[in-house]
Amino acid sequence: MRSLAKDKLISLTHPSLYLSHPTVESFVWNTIIRARVQGKAPPANSPVSIFLRMRFHGVPPDFHTFPFLLQSFRSSSHLHSGRSIHSQIICFGLDADPFIQASLITMYSACGNLGFAQQVFDEIPQPDLPSRNSMLNANVKVGRIDVARELFDEMPERNVISWSCMMSGYVSSGDGKEALALFREMLKGEAEDVRPNEFTMTVVLSACGQLGTLEHGKRAHAYIHKCGIEVNAVLGTSLIDMYAKCGSIERASWVFNNLGPNKDVIAWSAMISGLAMHGHSEQCLDLFPEMLNHGVRPNAITFVGLLCACVHGGLTSEGESYFQRMTIDFGITPLIQHYGCMVDLYGRAGRIEEAWNVINSMPMEPDVLVWGALLSGSRMHGDIRTCEIALKKLIGLETTNSGAYVLLSNMYAKTGRWEDARHIRDLMEAKGIQKVPGCSMVEVGGAIHEFFAADESHPEAKEIHSMLEEIMKRLKMEGYVGNTKEVLLDLDEEGKEMALSVHSEKLAVAFSILKTRAGTPIHIVKNLRICCDCHAAMKMISKIFRRKIVIRDCNRFHHFADGTCSCKDYW
Ligand code: ZN
Ligand code: ZN
Repeated sequence: MRSLAKDKLISLTHPSLYLSHPTVESFVWNTIIRARVQGKAPPANSPVSIFLRMRFHGVPPDFHTFPFLLQSFRSSSHLHSGRSIHSQIICFGLDADPFIQASLITMYSACGNLGFAQQVFDEIPQPDLPSRNSMLNANVKVGRIDVARELFDEMPERNVISWSCMMSGYVSSGDGKEALALFREMLKGEAEDVRPNEFTMTVVLSACGQLGTLEHGKRAHAYIHKCGIEVNAVLGTSLIDMYAKCGSIERASWVFNNLGPNKDVIAWSAMISGLAMHGHSEQCLDLFPEMLNHGVRPNAITFVGLLCACVHGGLTSEGESYFQRMTIDFGITPLIQHYGCMVDLYGRAGRIEEAWNVINSMPMEPDVLVWGALLSGSRMHGDIRTCEIALKKLIGLETTNSGAYVLLSNMYAKTGRWEDARHIRDLMEAKGIQKVPGCSMVEVGGAIHEFFAADESHPEAKEIHSMLEEIMKRLKMEGYVGNTKEVLLDLDEEGKEMALSVHSEKLAVAFSILKTRAGTPIHIVKNLRICCDCHAAMKMISKIFRRKIVIRDCNRFHHFADGTCSCKDYW
């Protein structure tokens, strides 16, 4: 007995005494570790402690032990343990195994140490595809898109993971256009014989949603059908999200209703958020009890959607009730987004003092979204003092937010505080902050067209401008008066120094009327908040030219039809 125990001790301290060949015993231990990592075993023991027991019993690890074990290190606090296991791998002479190498890169990346991941990669004489993919993903995760692209371009061979990973990098850095360009290239590159899978299509759909390109989104949906890719809960949710973001809440509902009875909380929340974004507050709030009836428990995201619906619908008391129920009935601790919604809710209702109370009660520091919400409320109701505080906070938090600088300096100018206005302009210049140009995007004939305020660069600029003149003439005949009154309420990010008629959404609408058949709905995506004047013009255009116009601005959707807007002029 005693000698056996001694043996075990030796096996722990001198692991190299044991060979690393798979044995029946190691197979059993590996299975236990794998089950634990994959969450299929009760969490009584951590994978590392199972590994230590395995070693205590003198069972040598093999090629299959480490890849799963390494998967259990997922945050920076695991880095130390991850490194210890790495040294064990070297002791057992398993560090040249390609599967283990790829797993090490992934582990270091998951623990937030790109340097170690790079080191492992650099030490591989001839990295194989999985290692290259792991390194690509490690760079994508920290937003080093250019480095990732270099790795991607240098790969001797690429599989569906490489393509999808690179595309998701573009989407997370906000470049949906490049993601779609890469997808087209992937489909063209038949030599590599790579077929998109469910994950690829999820990435493509989020690129479409980001851009708001309904035609591209519809094509991606058709492609999913054509390839026979199963629309499971994950892909279904991506479709709902895409259609909602592309302005077609009808299609989003259709996908939602066809998902079958086993929808999870993510699918329900996506539909709730979609309806909220489009201002269908009642339908949105009706969905909540239905969700509970289906036995689905809401989570924090569900409540963000519900509170947004209350914000867009101006439903203050309902919002208050959901905010309370979320903690009392469902035990969900409010996140900063929930507080932001409450500030927005009170701000828009003109209850600025209550908005302040929410901010003062927050257990965390307010972020740009919270101050931004307070700003829109105080702007809407002409509370100059609160406006000024919110803008100063925004400038303090987000030094590159040109909108805040422009608004604050405009506000000072309009209240005659010229000295302060000049100071803000100087500050902007000193920090090298450029104004974000207003940009509207519209999809015509399968191509994406972008328009900037006062832009002359479009090849058909002349025709577009004369069309716009024509439109404005018709509008004036029907009683339209350009909103040139520079009231405080209508401070806008783009400034009024340019003629009102050339804001980018007006160019986009003129182009669409010029290029599409009568009656075709017009979908526009705008990067900034739509100004009062453009909003009034769109309402009239929808009536005079009998067009449905859907505009997604940075806050929400506006559906213009027959002279009115779905936001009921409340945005
Ligand atoms: Zn405008
Ligand atoms: Zn509107």
